[in-house]
Amino acid sequence: MAETENNPATNNKEELPELSKLSLEPNLPAAKTGAKGNADANSASVALQSYQNAAATNAPTNNQSLTSGSQRPKDNVEEDSSEISASDDGSWIAWFCSLRGNEFFCEVDEDYIQDDFNLTGLHLLVPYYDYALDMVLDVEMPMEEKLTEAQQEIVESAAEMLYGLIHARYILTNRGMHAMYEKYRSAAFGRCPHVFCQGQPVLPVGLSDLPRNFTVNVFCPRCHGLFFPKSTRQANIDGAYFGTTFPHLYLMTHPDMVPVRPTQEYTPRVYGFKINEQSLYYRNNQDVTRRVENSSTRPGSARRRNRGGR
Ligand SMILES: [Zn+2]
Repeated sequence: MAETENNPATNNKEELPELSKLSLEPNLPAAKTGAKGNADANSASVALQSYQNAAATNAPTNNQSLTSGSQRPKDNVEEDSSEISASDDGSWIAWFCSLRGNEFFCEVDEDYIQDDFNLTGLHLLVPYYDYALDMVLDVEMPMEEKLTEAQQEIVESAAEMLYGLIHARYILTNRGMHAMYEKYRSAAFGRCPHVFCQGQPVLPVGLSDLPRNFTVNVFCPRCHGLFFPKSTRQANIDGAYFGTTFPHLYLMTHPDMVPVRPTQEYTPRVYGFKINEQSLYYRNNQDVTRRVENSSTRPGSARRRNRGGR
């Protein structure tokens, strides 16, 4: 992969100038183009800068201070590296996962990404696939300095998408599940807001396996409820980077992890009295679902529901 003759980056040299004509932005879901836009673009470029700085020094700060402490340009090197503390090895993956808002992602093993089989079909979904893959795997791009800033940004967001789609596949493997379990155990995905779930940790899930359709949600294994993540940064992540399968396959694979359903159920009361089930209060929610359930067994019930509504 890293050999120059096989390097896709060099092969695609001619295509590069066209990068800037295309923008990935218009396809983004509304949630992504909204409030997130400017703030995240700034923080992303700041973070990118710090990543590049870290990659340039490419040595642990401790060693540096031992061997060449006097040569260190400035003391705030340490401050920079604390911002990206998780990326000790300076890899793109470690850097990406350490970004604020990316806490839901686990680090995908490079071995997994290097196996072409695991990437089957992704070149159809990700623009500038070869550049993106090189970026994710930290393959030196010989003509990197020829990329304009705009092109860099496009490749950067393509790399994010590629990593996300690989991530969705990886977390269905044993090693991926284990990495996600570590996060789940520490409630890194948040907790169910349902009162009777008593702070049950949740798992991330998408409503689509194709990118740019839905942002990520969290699933409660106790009440089976689906919620928005608590943090807006996390809520802006594409749901396809976690996929529709993960929490369910995870729980099926580890049945011992399935929590018991909450025994308590909330009963709305007015002055201490239960609300009559025939009340309009219930007709808008319970009634409809109950009759839909009935209609699957009794075909005539749809007409009855109409009559009942008048
Ligand atoms: Zn719950």
